Amino acid sequence: MNTENEMKLEFDSRSCNEGFARVSVAAFLTQLNPTLEEVADVKTALSEAVTNAIIHGYEGKVEKITITCRIFDQTIEIEVKDHGVGIEDIRRAMEPLFTTKQDCERAGMGFSFMEAFMDTLEVVSSPGKGTSVKMTKKILHTDNRYER
Ligand code: ATP
Ligand code: MG
Repeated sequence: MNTENEMKLEFDSRSCNEGFARVSVAAFLTQLNPTLEEVADVKTALSEAVTNAIIHGYEGKVEKITITCRIFDQTIEIEVKDHGVGIEDIRRAMEPLFTTKQDCERAGMGFSFMEAFMDTLEVVSSPGKGTSVKMTKKILHTDNRYER
């Protein structure tokens, strides 16, 4: 499928909205006919980005998170955006095991999971202005997938 398609979600940064965001993106993804494993990968990566916006970006304050999803060339592109505190040192933040919240049982693995489960990951952030996490994943062509 080469048709371009886009959707946008905006919701409050409450953890009860994480499930809603996950299911909405998964539903949008189904038009690419993904495998269950591909759906699980995208949901995991999305959850990590949304959790980060809630706990790090807004530090528990209730503000808006936006998710923009675009489909092109059998690929899903997802951007998760907050207007929270931002990241001082993006390279460091993306290192495995790096966390600024050791006391809260954070493993510092969120960005590593996003990198592992998606094909590309791009983080743009300004301290005091917010963070954009953009990731893409190509969904393999699935014609006749269930045929032997
Ligand atoms: P885990 O995801 O394993 O629970 P973590 O959230 O600390 O732990 P990462 O998701 O890899 O680990 O994020 C690393 C660090 O990057 C965070 O500790 C935080 O300092 C910073 N960070 C990530 N996302 C944001 C964001 N949206 N706004 C501000 N800081 C962020
Ligand atoms: Mg995280």
